[in-house]
Amino acid sequence: MSNIENFSELGLKPAILKALEELGYETPTPIQAKSIPVLLQGENLLAQAQTGTGKTASFALPILNELDPKQKSPQALVIAPTRELAIQVAEAFYQYAKHLKDFHVTPIYGGQDYNVQFKALKRGSQVVVGTPGRLIDHLERGTLNLENLKTIVLDEADEMLKMGFIDDIESILQKMQPPYQMALFSATMPKAIEKIADRYLSKAQKIHIQPKERTVNTIEQVYMCVKRENKLDALTRFLEIDNVTAGIIFVRTKTMCVELGEKLQARGYRVSALNGDMKQSMRERVIDQLKKGTLDFIVATDVAARGIDVQRVSHVINYDIPTDTESYIHRIGRTGRAGRTGKALLLVTPREQRLLNDIERAIHCEIKPVTPPTLQEISSKRSEALAEKVLNIVSKSKKLKPYQEMVAQMKEHCPVEDIAAALAYLLEQDNPLPIYDLENVKPEKPQGKTNNTNKKNKNRTFEKSRSSKNKTEFKKRVAKRKKSKT
Ligand code: AMP
Repeated sequence: MSNIENFSELGLKPAILKALEELGYETPTPIQAKSIPVLLQGENLLAQAQTGTGKTASFALPILNELDPKQKSPQALVIAPTRELAIQVAEAFYQYAKHLKDFHVTPIYGGQDYNVQFKALKRGSQVVVGTPGRLIDHLERGTLNLENLKTIVLDEADEMLKMGFIDDIESILQKMQPPYQMALFSATMPKAIEKIADRYLSKAQKIHIQPKERTVNTIEQVYMCVKRENKLDALTRFLEIDNVTAGIIFVRTKTMCVELGEKLQARGYRVSALNGDMKQSMRERVIDQLKKGTLDFIVATDVAARGIDVQRVSHVINYDIPTDTESYIHRIGRTGRAGRTGKALLLVTPREQRLLNDIERAIHCEIKPVTPPTLQEISSKRSEALAEKVLNIVSKSKKLKPYQEMVAQMKEHCPVEDIAAALAYLLEQDNPLPIYDLENVKPEKPQGKTNNTNKKNKNRTFEKSRSSKNKTEFKKRVAKRKKSKT
């Protein structure tokens, strides 16, 4: 079942396929390819999968496919450990149900006004996503009716165990009226979760995507842990500092491919998108441009980048972490071709930590943490490059004479350093060196991972204290000037 290449092979309704197409999903992730057929057949499921693997769609798509839109009471209940996850799952349902009429999902979590939730439940919702404590409150108050429930999903079961929710979950499950279908998703399978599975998941299909183990030696692998909203800034800073000849930047969706391509173009990079929507001839043209050096980057999805063999590619950037280790290995293999060395950068959000651990286990090596370069680092790198260019001209060019005369005249009006600086500024006018440090892209600490970023973070604190020292000195100077005026 896992070699399903298209969502259309899964037997989902056209309205759902349309939403997936619009979201830019090209192909089901491994967990989706395995889980969706099982759930569509009405069977129970025990799946070992973590955040980032596409697990939400694994249960949301079959649930949506089987819903009766006319039935307004809950037909599916998803139990999630945190309010953030409950909201995220509810949003995912809405995205996938965009073209389904009369569909409602209600997130129910602690900390939100009860009245909002009463109203939403009264109006009618086919799907309820909630945290255990608040779900029990509603069940006890009689405001959550589960009589017509067909499916129940336990999402991130091991997290719920860690947070001490296991008794709450058991008491919810005991209130359920069989028959119902149940799916349990968990990143790990501790004993207590297995016990729940034994008791409530009869004849469940078990899914665990075993990463194949492989080593990749010729490629230097690093990762940066940054929040989703800081990814673009982190990437562009990295590209400024590293000596990139050509690169392939991987994203998850066709939509993201186009979006990121445009953003990088706007920042002056020679880049093109490469995705499954493009005609074969167009794709070939883009790859050819990368080979010839008229393009420096392509932003690609996994499907579109299959089999690309361009020796110039010095870098592979995993802008979105791949959903499985196999595609990580496949992606980074686009660099380090023909005996050359290559570098792979992976951007990880704090929640995707576990996927990173899986990848490291599969490739048998540690991916080194790096922090986004500071503006000072970028500035000195660019100054160095410019200085090298200028010195090169001074030592080699025979065409400087008329300019030397011009400088000699200007020297009478201002120091020669100022003249040179102004000329350098003219040269760099489109992208001038930063004058002051804008907000730094804060590196995030991966959840549950100890990394080596402390040293750099110390530097960051030093930078801060230096800037506050500057401020104090500036104040002192102003005060002195005021004094001398009076
Ligand atoms: P999840 O593991 O459910 O938290 O999903 C992680 C991310 O992957 C979310 O941003 C989803 O929108 C995205 N995603 C899920 N399935 C696919 C797919 N088949 N193709 C591309 N992106 C996907």
